[in-house]
Amino acid sequence: ALVYLNGEYLPLDQAKVSVLDRGFLFGDGVYEVIPVYGGQPFRLQEHLRRLGQSLAGIRMAQPLSDGEWAAIFERLIDGPGDQYIYLQVTRGAADKRDHAIPAQITPTVFAMGSPIAPIPLDGIRAVTLDDIRWQCCHIKATTLLANVLLRQDAVERGAAEAILVRDGCATEGAASNLFIVQDGSVITPPKGHAILPGITRDLVLELAQQHGLATEERRIRLEELQKAEEIWLTSSTREVLAVTELDGAKVGDGQPGPVWRRIQEIYQAYKQGLREG
Ligand code: PMP
Repeated sequence: ALVYLNGEYLPLDQAKVSVLDRGFLFGDGVYEVIPVYGGQPFRLQEHLRRLGQSLAGIRMAQPLSDGEWAAIFERLIDGPGDQYIYLQVTRGAADKRDHAIPAQITPTVFAMGSPIAPIPLDGIRAVTLDDIRWQCCHIKATTLLANVLLRQDAVERGAAEAILVRDGCATEGAASNLFIVQDGSVITPPKGHAILPGITRDLVLELAQQHGLATEERRIRLEELQKAEEIWLTSSTREVLAVTELDGAKVGDGQPGPVWRRIQEIYQAYKQGLREG
C-alpha cells in the first residue's frame, strides 16, 4: 500500500523528509488518527474539525481542504477491513535550526493507512501516574515525549495504560480519555487544556445520553477513581476499553461492568448502523 507525502503517493520506504523538518527537530506539528470501518472514515468531519483546531493552536493554516483530505484518504484505504488513517502536518523544513517560526515555510503533509489491532474485550490493567505533560493537552501535537515515557512506565508496571493525575484529579489516559461509573452515572472530565477533546469521548457521551444513561462532565478526584464501580478508557482505535484492575486492585468485581457492556452494545450497533445506512 502507498502512503501520501506532500502531494505524492509513494511506497512507505521511499517516503522521506528532511532532517531540518521542524517535526523532527522540535516536534513542531500536529496529527490525527481516523478509524475506517467498511471502507468509510468514521466521524470524519469531527476529526477534520479537531485537526483545524490543533493547527490553529500552533498557528498554522489548514494545508488542504476537507475535500482534498477525503480524496487522499480514499486512495489510502485498503479494502473493507477495519483500519485507520494516521495523518501528520508539521511546520516544514527551514534552512537552519531556529526555535522561532520562519516567515516563509511550506508544511510537510503525511498520511498513511494501517490495520487496527484487535481490541481486548475482557478488560485491561491501568496504573495511575503523575501527569507530567505540558499545559496545552487540548492540542493534538506530535510532541509526545511525556506520553511515551508515561506509557512505557505503565507497560513496565504490567499495565496497558497510564491514567494521569493532575492537581488531585484524574484527567485522561496517556493516549485515551477517561470515564468512570459512579452510582450508575457515567462521568468524564470536562474539556479544557488538561485533556485532548477525544472524538470517541464525545461519541460515547452522545450515545449514552441518547440511550437514557445519566451522564456528567466534571472533574474526577483520584479517590473517586479508586472507588469507581467501573472505569473506561476511550480512543479512536480502541473504542471503549474496560479497566478491570487499577494500581493492582480490582475495579468492581474485576470484570468489565454492566454499564460497559451496555455502552459497548450501543457503540457496536452505532458502527454497524453507519455501515449499513
Ligand atoms: N487523549 C489522548 C492524550 C490521546 O492521545 C488520545 C488518542 N490519540 C485520546 C485522548 C483519544 O482521542 P480520540 O477518541 O479522538 O482518539
